[in-house]
Amino acid sequence: MTTAATGTAATGTAELQARYAAALMPNYGVPPVALARGQGCVVWDVDGKEYLDLIGGIAVSALGHAHPALVAAVSEQAAKLAHSSNLFLHEGQVLLAEKLIGLLGHEGKVFFANSGTEANEAAVKLVRRQQGQARTVFVAAEHGFHGRSMGSLSLTGKESIRAPFAPFGFEVRFVPFGDAGALAAAVTQECAAVFLEPCLGEGGVVPAPPGYLAAARAACDANGAMLVLDEIQSGIGRTGSWFAFQDAGVVPDVITLAKGLGGGLPIGACIGIGEYGSSFAKGDHGSTFGGNPIACAAALAVLETIEKDGLLANATEAGALLAEGIGSVSHELIAGVRGSALWLAIALNSAVAASVEAAARQAGFLVNAVQPDAVRIAPPLIINAAQAESFVAALPGIMARAAELSGPEE
Ligand SMILES: *Cc1c(COP(=O)(O)O)cnc(C)c1O
Repeated sequence: MTTAATGTAATGTAELQARYAAALMPNYGVPPVALARGQGCVVWDVDGKEYLDLIGGIAVSALGHAHPALVAAVSEQAAKLAHSSNLFLHEGQVLLAEKLIGLLGHEGKVFFANSGTEANEAAVKLVRRQQGQARTVFVAAEHGFHGRSMGSLSLTGKESIRAPFAPFGFEVRFVPFGDAGALAAAVTQECAAVFLEPCLGEGGVVPAPPGYLAAARAACDANGAMLVLDEIQSGIGRTGSWFAFQDAGVVPDVITLAKGLGGGLPIGACIGIGEYGSSFAKGDHGSTFGGNPIACAAALAVLETIEKDGLLANATEAGALLAEGIGSVSHELIAGVRGSALWLAIALNSAVAASVEAAARQAGFLVNAVQPDAVRIAPPLIINAAQAESFVAALPGIMARAAELSGPEE
């Protein structure tokens, strides 16, 4: 439509927002920023404003933006074979499945999907297939998040997004996250599986208390239920380990992955550990695009780069800098910082997260008001110390501005 004589894009933010509102469904609201491009941990909007990206497309852009390894892998694969369908195999999906099983450190088998919610749908079906029709009850956590499709949504412990779409196809018992006693009481002989995040992501980056996942494992074992860990947000280095369950000393029966796995390309995975790798019989499940060659090439590049560049250690070190730095900022609105490695939340004393997010944006930092009283930080795993420190240095000013934005005169 319009072409500005200056600036970085033909169309500015305001005009794109108006057209977005007219052409796209209102389920997200109109986003505040229109991104044009990125490089490393930095992104630019269509008006040329620069931001340090501390949310990485919701814990997705593990290698940041335009990483040469990802660009090369995706472009080379696109020039070779973009799609195969499940009628034919290609080497990339075999390599990626082998690689994931190796990182897991346990025998298992992989099903590839295209998103987190699809990975969880596969897990739900796998549980049903394994446990049969006599055990149909699932146990999941209040404030847990597992996705928006009907099976995953039924396991999601946020009433406001689940209730409008009820009824669902199976019974789910919700228990308070982190309460081992409540979990043990809910897991009975009718339970097919317990479905948990190792640390609530959308719930506000709330880690499970020590021993909680082990207690879940024990409750499952005592009652013949399966333990499914949703590592869609926690997996692939976010916590400084390949998978968060590896820190908890438990072995789940199934894990699901997506977000960081493809570094920005859509891919999900459901991994059955041990015998559960073989729960599906031929014909039980499928996806036309799942395990797509381009997405697999991207995921292989992500995993290889994390290994080659020591990004698990970087996540731990840069995350510690961020957590300590945020923890050292004293402001009446900041209650503390929680989480691990590059998966943190600034906990707030009142429901001002939206104001903190807006103030950070004005100051050139993209963060996410994940809960009314929590701001999520989940930057690319490549973030360096200087970038982490720049946010810490800006935080007092951001909090002062947030206090103004959320003040009574607003
Ligand atoms: C994001 C997320 C999902 C859903 O993933 P989509 O790709 O949006 O479908 C499921 N579980 C967890 C823990 C997530 O963080």
